[in-house]
Amino acid sequence: MFACIVWTGETRSQLATATRQQAPREITAVLGGRIVGKTVHVERVVALPNQSMHNDAFVIEASQFARCEHDLRDAGLEFVGFAHSHPEGHAAPSQRDREQLWTDCVQVITNGEQVHAFVLDRDRVVHAVRQASQSMASVTTSGATQ
Ligand SMILES: [Zn+2]
Repeated sequence: MFACIVWTGETRSQLATATRQQAPREITAVLGGRIVGKTVHVERVVALPNQSMHNDAFVIEASQFARCEHDLRDAGLEFVGFAHSHPEGHAAPSQRDREQLWTDCVQVITNGEQVHAFVLDRDRVVHAVRQASQSMASVTTSGATQ
């Protein structure tokens, strides 16, 4: 189970901006990054087309997800989770989210202002995940000192 998610660079604001731009459609994105112990570093937000016919739902095509995961691996990153938006709602999992979202990976929901991160365990219990931000500058600095 993950204890903390670190938004690297502009990743968190990219998500919020895309949410506002696409409203009232829900956006979907794959989160790529690195898992270090119980901390997930999000380094890339890859928006994927929402195949749903409805504004308040999202569907990702399996082939697009597979290609996305492949691209992340090519870049030395791994799939760490998903993000989607509730452009006209709360940044909290809906009943459908609790029933249908993938378990055991990071799930992020944003309404364009608040960003909520959590993990669903195998019993579909929601566990909130703490968030932190890290600018590219501090990433470079910490990399240089190690
Ligand atoms: Zn949702």
